[in-house]
Amino acid sequence: MSGGLSSVMARRVTVLGSTGSIGISTLDVIAHARETHGPDAFPVEALTAQSNVEALAEQAHRFRPRLAVIGDASLGERLRSLLSGTGIQTASGYEAVVEAAARPSEVVMVAIVGAASLAPAFAAVKRGATIALANKECIVAAGDIFCRAVAEYGATLIPVDSEHNAAFQLLNFDEAHAIERVTLTASGGPFREWSSDRMAAATPEQAVAHPNWSMGAKISVDSATLMNKGLELIEAHFLFSLPPEKLAVLVHPQSIVHCMVSYADGSTLAHLSAPDMRTPIAHALAWPRRMSSPSHRLDLAMLNRLTFEAPDPQRFPCLGLAQDCLRSGGLAPTILNAANEVAVQAFLGRRIGFLDIARVVENTLTARVPNNASVPNDVEGILDADRQARDLAGTICRRMAA
Ligand code: NAD
Ligand code: MG
Repeated sequence: MSGGLSSVMARRVTVLGSTGSIGISTLDVIAHARETHGPDAFPVEALTAQSNVEALAEQAHRFRPRLAVIGDASLGERLRSLLSGTGIQTASGYEAVVEAAARPSEVVMVAIVGAASLAPAFAAVKRGATIALANKECIVAAGDIFCRAVAEYGATLIPVDSEHNAAFQLLNFDEAHAIERVTLTASGGPFREWSSDRMAAATPEQAVAHPNWSMGAKISVDSATLMNKGLELIEAHFLFSLPPEKLAVLVHPQSIVHCMVSYADGSTLAHLSAPDMRTPIAHALAWPRRMSSPSHRLDLAMLNRLTFEAPDPQRFPCLGLAQDCLRSGGLAPTILNAANEVAVQAFLGRRIGFLDIARVVENTLTARVPNNASVPNDVEGILDADRQARDLAGTICRRMAA
């Protein structure tokens, strides 16, 4: 193999959520590595998906994993027939997704959306794997427990979320005392210049039409409400052990600067790249080495200018709700995340309006947080709080829809 990267290319990879936006980009990076370094680069242990069985089978034919898993158990037979004669093992159901994560592989890309990623991500942590973490909901829901488990089991956590991957590259952990501020940028989403009145009538199609990034539906809606940036502040707090007052958000519509780290001597370091998730994915797969990625390259002369502005807390209340939860800690982030997942699904299903998302989250937090002072110290406890918050948020959505 060329370039002295042979140990990187030999890494066995599992992709959880391979048919989603991040999953597809991950396989694209692996395909590029195979073109560059030979067909044996990044052997694939397992691919998993929830319901797109045809796409999963097509990926399995192409990338030859040892195992392919479909989360929806009713599609297990279909997957088996699509892969018959290939020698690729198949399985179905959520437990099989968790078992896929537990199988031996060096790197697990966690690209499942939502808190459903928590159990599989934990299974990978418990065998000390390197976790390339695209999913943010599991860190928001179970940050303390998750990060403690990473340390306890000797796992390695490489953030893939672009801002956190950028922070990971910029942060000098040996000089943690000198870190004054970490600023995450937000594109501002498709409604950056919309009035609240106009947003009240926004459709799912308008909300998922992101100006810079092509992403799954859930994170696209989160970007439109700015909840995505709120979740990311909480994610940064847990990943990098940073207190809330050192974390800031700036709206940067071009999505070129992903994160800035300011140090005590007045220096601010910034990470720049084209808005293309294949860059942080390639960084995570190769870390601590660097490898080639098929990502778009930056052309700053063509872009001409980069602009920054403060977020508007009035029009985007989800950001403030998340900041409150970050400050109050305890179960608040878990409840925030659960209520938001339910509200976003209700909005995508046209059962509630766009501005109702923040209302559902706020009402769920008001009803649940004071009753939940004690924080569970195991995943089961977190999942229990998550379930209760989902039930309540569902009831609130139904009341709003009525
Ligand atoms: P997506 O909706 O495009 O894909 C989600 C994947 O998860 C699919 O493969 C789907 O089959 C699988 N899945 C869904 N529900 C599941 C369940 N209950 N059990 C098992 N598998 C399930 O989402 P995405 O945009 O690729 O985002 C994935 C994660 O990465 C999210 O947490 C998101 O916040 C994060 N992320 C995404 C981007 C991006 O550019 N898309 C950027 C940063 C972070
Ligand atoms: Mg991000």
